[in-house]
Amino acid sequence: MEKRIKLHDREFRVMISAEKIEEAISNIAEKINRDYADVECPILLGVLNGSFVFLADLARKLDFTCEVSFVKLASYEGCSSTGKVQELIGLNNSIEGRNVIVVEDIVDSGRSIAYTLQTLRAKKAASVKVATLFFKPNAYKESETIDYIALEIGNEFIVGYGLDYDQLGRELKDIYVTE
Ligand code: 5GP
Ligand code: MG
Repeated sequence: MEKRIKLHDREFRVMISAEKIEEAISNIAEKINRDYADVECPILLGVLNGSFVFLADLARKLDFTCEVSFVKLASYEGCSSTGKVQELIGLNNSIEGRNVIVVEDIVDSGRSIAYTLQTLRAKKAASVKVATLFFKPNAYKESETIDYIALEIGNEFIVGYGLDYDQLGRELKDIYVTE
């Protein structure tokens, strides 16, 4: 039976199962393990709030020693992808000389990730790569390389597995899409 849920005023149905997500994360974890086998203690830098589930699952599939930290993006216009990114909250100064893997829930227009990468480079990180659970290739407007993409989707709005609809739905195991 197809799972349907209601969040606020909208109905959602399952689009990607928890099993498929797990498989996709295992695939990028394998690549990251290969690429970082000889890299000195990387930092997994999760961008809150959406990345918390993905980061927790990804980190447990990595087989090298790493640090885990989180930042939050502040924006003028809430969390819509057109919102101007304003600031990175919670980033301490220990970025210089470090190898950073930014962990994102979803890259849409790319505005947020472009800002985050700019900030990390200004803080003199030794290297910065990006791992994202979802990527919307048709919406992406930046030229930054997204190094590790677990799943590509169209321009639909999704919730679950850390992603919210107006703060609801983050705890869902599967990914849901609006009807
Ligand atoms: P960007 O700056 O790449 O346009 O936007 C990225 C942010 O927009 C994500 O971190 C997320 O907060 C939000 N976003 C973009 N697409 C979706 C989506 O399909 N579902 C949800 N829940 N948030 C999205
Ligand atoms: Mg995000």
